Amino acid sequence: MTERLLVTFMNKPTCPMCEMDEILDHNDRFECATCGHEWPHESEAEVPDAARVVKDAYGHVLADGDIVAMIKDLKLGGTSQVLKVGTKSKPIRLVDGDHEISCKMEGLAIALKACFVKKVTV
Ligand SMILES: [Zn+2]
Repeated sequence: MTERLLVTFMNKPTCPMCEMDEILDHNDRFECATCGHEWPHESEAEVPDAARVVKDAYGHVLADGDIVAMIKDLKLGGTSQVLKVGTKSKPIRLVDGDHEISCKMEGLAIALKACFVKKVTV
């Protein structure tokens, strides 16, 4: 029982669903007394999709917050606007789907394929 208390004290869990800290500690899992959500002790939920790696046109691994630049002119679908080579993005966000990058360029919110950009060292 000592061990159980120790774990609770050292690493006070909060519920990933409702963020309340009234947590019941079962042998292999936690249970939120507030909303009833249950999750395993080793919180794998906190590790974001480690398997997914998005690389730019030159094979550099991209991460949330990176700045990227166009490596070729790209016409925006449905508009006459063209993103020119070298246009830099605001910090990007990686998303699911075949357009892996969500970002703003030239004030527009756009989705880009990683193969059309290169990572810019800032
Ligand atoms: Zn909860």
